[in-house]
Amino acid sequence: MGRLLIKTAIVALAFSMLIFVSIKIKNEIEASKWENNIAVAAFNDNKETYNGNFLKLGFQVKQDSIVSSIDIFLENKKAEIQNKILCVNNRYYISAEDIARNFNMQVETYNDEIHFYKIDRNFKKDDKKEIVIDCKNDTYKISRENDLRNSPLKVNNNFYIALIDIAEIFNLRAKWNYETKEIKFYEDRNTLSRESKRQRQKRPALIRFEDVAAGEVYMNSDSLQKMRIIADFMYSQRAPFHVAWIPRYKNPKEGIDNDLLKVDSMANADFVYTLDYMIKKGAIIGLHGYTHQYGEEQSIANAEFGDYASLQETEIRVKAAINTAKELNIPYEFFESPHYKSTEMQQAIFEKYFNYMFEPQKGVFNTKPVLSKRNNRTVYVPAPLGYVHDNDVDDMIKRIKDKGKDSIGAFFYHPTKEFESITLVKNNDDYPDYEYSSSSMLHKMIKCLKDEGYAPVKIHDIKLLK
Ligand SMILES: [Zn+2]
Repeated sequence: MGRLLIKTAIVALAFSMLIFVSIKIKNEIEASKWENNIAVAAFNDNKETYNGNFLKLGFQVKQDSIVSSIDIFLENKKAEIQNKILCVNNRYYISAEDIARNFNMQVETYNDEIHFYKIDRNFKKDDKKEIVIDCKNDTYKISRENDLRNSPLKVNNNFYIALIDIAEIFNLRAKWNYETKEIKFYEDRNTLSRESKRQRQKRPALIRFEDVAAGEVYMNSDSLQKMRIIADFMYSQRAPFHVAWIPRYKNPKEGIDNDLLKVDSMANADFVYTLDYMIKKGAIIGLHGYTHQYGEEQSIANAEFGDYASLQETEIRVKAAINTAKELNIPYEFFESPHYKSTEMQQAIFEKYFNYMFEPQKGVFNTKPVLSKRNNRTVYVPAPLGYVHDNDVDDMIKRIKDKGKDSIGAFFYHPTKEFESITLVKNNDDYPDYEYSSSSMLHKMIKCLKDEGYAPVKIHDIKLLK
């Protein structure tokens, strides 16, 4: 009897040991698959652009929305604008009538739809030369349906469409000139070759363009044009990217306070146009503080939270940043503290408003994504590969290659460094052409990621279980 008991005990013990070991092995396998799980989730999401539709403008246009000082050109010919150009939230809008006039088309408008036709109807019925704009769902359809970046406005029974959407519908490249107050559009002559599909890879990578604000170098049309060229490159590589945007640029000592909600200027309109452009090319925008400075200090150079802002001020600033994005109709997906400077208590405030923090969690100092234990919702995604110091891209390449298995392949890069590799070229007729060196730092990093089996993913591809 005693022997049987011992035998049973030994069998039971062996059995539970076996279960214990197999669970442990299974957990380890699962844990080692964390990168692959993120990469797989990224491929389940085929959407390329993310349109927040924060505001349906109430079709209320005030007198001060009318812009009389700028000229629009099409293939170097001054466009004939009979209705006014409108400026709402630093976006220019042109009426459907004027669009039709300048593109030699006919327009028919309905309650919620705008239809453009070629006047010369010498094409077959099934040729689908018609452009249908659905103002209810904010889409346009030529051969297939696409999202508009902004809802069309309806003013005095006239529809108005934002420049960024006109440029996409008609495949135009823009050249802005703030001095002469001209925006020149040309049909895009360099059709960008694009990878036929995303490469399925096992390891996720996150790329973040850092410190993008309507100030300093970004208040220059050449810089913004280069920014759009970088977005084109990322789009051609099917590489989604993140943009750490600072909603309000300040430099109090120089008397600069560039609040995009209050200051209307061509440079600001070009900046918003460029944000829209990047979103259309796969950018995920995040809020990088509100002003990225404190007191009399200058934006970007200085931190905003940490020891500076009280908890109350912190919340006010976060809300102001979110309000700017919503008013401007810029969808945002994450928050990043300037210089990563924030306290645990401040991060607890950010968590209230964001599902993703693109920084390590204070006190945890994670090198791979973790779920906040405070709210079981916010994911902290660090960027343990850091950033490109000076112009030492080889150092970053080495870091990508040596990445440890418990850290995520995420880094950030100041796009102004990439500007040096792009030369803007003017053709005879002013067409805004460019040369982009294929040995640029970004080209090298993207190539390295590919060679090392990484797929660029979006921060919201990272889903962690509670
Ligand atoms: Zn920064």
